[in-house]
Amino acid sequence: MKITMLGTSHGVPEGDRRCACNLVEIEDWRYFVDMGTQAIEDIRRRHIPEESIKGVFITHMHGDHTNGLVSFVDLLSWYFKSCYPRIVLPEQMAIDVLGAWLLVNHSNLREDLEFQVTKEGMVFDDGVLKATAIKTQHIEPSYAYLLEAEGRRVLFTGDLKNPEIDFPVAALNERVDLVIAEAAHFSPLKYLPVIYQYEIDRMIINHYQPKMVPDVWKLMDRVTIPVELAMDQMEVTL
Ligand SMILES: [Zn+2]
Repeated sequence: MKITMLGTSHGVPEGDRRCACNLVEIEDWRYFVDMGTQAIEDIRRRHIPEESIKGVFITHMHGDHTNGLVSFVDLLSWYFKSCYPRIVLPEQMAIDVLGAWLLVNHSNLREDLEFQVTKEGMVFDDGVLKATAIKTQHIEPSYAYLLEAEGRRVLFTGDLKNPEIDFPVAALNERVDLVIAEAAHFSPLKYLPVIYQYEIDRMIINHYQPKMVPDVWKLMDRVTIPVELAMDQMEVTL
C-alpha cells in the first residue's frame, strides 16, 4: 500500500501546502481520502489511468476536504466516462448539490456514478481495500476512516473535535500500522494518551497549522514511536 499526501494544509492553503487530499494506491488500484484540492490535476499529471480509481472517501463536507470533488465529479460526468469510483460521502445533500452544480454548468450528473452516504461501520469492500467509518465530533456528521489492505491497517482521523473525546479508538482494537492525524484544531500533544494507551506503530501529522509545529517536535520527543510531519507529495509505503 502506498499513500501519497497530495494536500497537507489545514483549512487554508499555505504557500507550499494544499488542502486535505490523500491518494492511496494498492496494486494497480487507486483510492482517495478527502479531495480538498484539485485531485483531477494530480491524476492527469501523474498519468493515472482514470479506470484505476475505485473509491473516494470523504471525512466531512468542509470545503478544505471537498472542493476538489466538484471538478472531479464534473469531469467524470462528461469526459472520464470510463472511471467508476464509488464516492462515499457523509451527507445526501452533497450529492444533490453536486447534481445542481452540474445543472448550472449546463451539464448533468452522470447517471451511473455511484454515490454512497457514509454510515458508521464498514462502508466499502471491493476485495482489495476495506474501509470502515467511525464517527467523530468535528461537525455533524464527520467520520474517520480505517483502511485495511494487504494485511495493513491505516487510520485517517479526519478532523476531530478533540482527541481526548473523539479520537476514533474503535479502530485501535487491533494494532494499527499508521495513524494519519490532524493538528489544525488543537495541539498534537493531545495525542499523547492515545499513543501511550494503544498499539500504534507510526503517526504522521498532516492537516496542521504552522503554529502547531513546535508541539509536533515536542510530541516526537515524548514518544517512542516514529512521529513525522507531513508535507505535500510525501509518500509512505507500507
Ligand atoms: Zn479540515
